Amino acid sequence: MPERIYNFSPGPATLPLEVLHQAAKDIVNYHDKGIGLIEMSHRSKDFMAVIEEAENLIRDLLHIPQNYKVLFLQGGASTQFAMVPMNLLGPGKKGSYLNTGVWAKKAIKEANIVASAHVAYSSEGSKYDHVPVDGDYSVDPEAEYLYFVSNNTIYGTQFPVMPKSEKMLVCDMSSDIMSRPFDITPFGLVFAGAQKNIGPAGATLVIIREDLLDRVPETVPTMLRYITHAEKGSMFNTPPCFAIYTIGLVCGWLKKIGGIEAIEKINREKAAILYDAIDSSDFYRGHARKDSRSLMNVTFNLPTPELEGRFVQEGAKRGLDGLKGHRSIGGIRASIYNAFPKQGVIELVEFMREFEKNA
Ligand SMILES: *Cc1c(COP(=O)(O)O)cnc(C)c1O
Repeated sequence: MPERIYNFSPGPATLPLEVLHQAAKDIVNYHDKGIGLIEMSHRSKDFMAVIEEAENLIRDLLHIPQNYKVLFLQGGASTQFAMVPMNLLGPGKKGSYLNTGVWAKKAIKEANIVASAHVAYSSEGSKYDHVPVDGDYSVDPEAEYLYFVSNNTIYGTQFPVMPKSEKMLVCDMSSDIMSRPFDITPFGLVFAGAQKNIGPAGATLVIIREDLLDRVPETVPTMLRYITHAEKGSMFNTPPCFAIYTIGLVCGWLKKIGGIEAIEKINREKAAILYDAIDSSDFYRGHARKDSRSLMNVTFNLPTPELEGRFVQEGAKRGLDGLKGHRSIGGIRASIYNAFPKQGVIELVEFMREFEKNA
């Protein structure tokens, strides 16, 4: 087998190697029971234990109190763009949104289909190179919630601290959940597609305050109601078994290395190495404003698109894979989520220095 490459992909993204080895074994023969994990009934005692363990680890790592439900849904983060306003707003009601990137904009579009979105702030005019601070915008007094995207995967921006508001917060944390601690109590709902930071594609984590479950209008179909899934422990229908199981393994790995506080420290170290390299050169220019820089997705440009193309190609030849920026902004993007090894960042910086010298 070739050595593992450094996978800078924005998602699905790199997972801890020990998790992959465990999953590979369990897919064929789960805990030596002579049956593979993905062949078992989701109602079996073994799988019930798997989903319970995954939920408990999430609650433990993120300090989620009992008045919040933890759900594993399908349809990706993108389905949440619609489910949130369908369940929490409905016709005639309004949510305030911070438009800090493509994923926020898509959520605004969905909210306007089933209810109404008030756009309280937009950084679209500056190519989404920053996020606002409190005071840069005001939330509509009639809004039910303030919606934001904590980490803008495509642009490499991140809220350094969560916004504060009198309204409850709703957040798309797809690309930075479990990368740093946060207090859930101002949040009504948090969601995250698993495939960036906590597992494989196929499951979407939703954490919702219990009292919000009843808000759903009667016109919302069964599968699109949070309460349907909350009342059945995410087992109303067949859940994404493999994804949930793998999320559990990733959370177990995270707990073992010291939890969210420990991984935040590592994430800050990794990001600092890369941003220092960008800042110490005129050849590389960061896309995000310094006050909004993401610890998860580091975006930058080279002097020309031709050089960027060569950079991506030559990087891939050295085992530094997936560095091409999103098609909407071009350039380079290095995604360095929780499971991305620090050594990969060090080798990227070495490559950057060499490439600049030879350009
Ligand atoms: C990737 C991503 C999405 C889309 O996730 P899907 O699961 O593919 O729908 C939404 N929001 C953010 C912040 C993302 O990074």
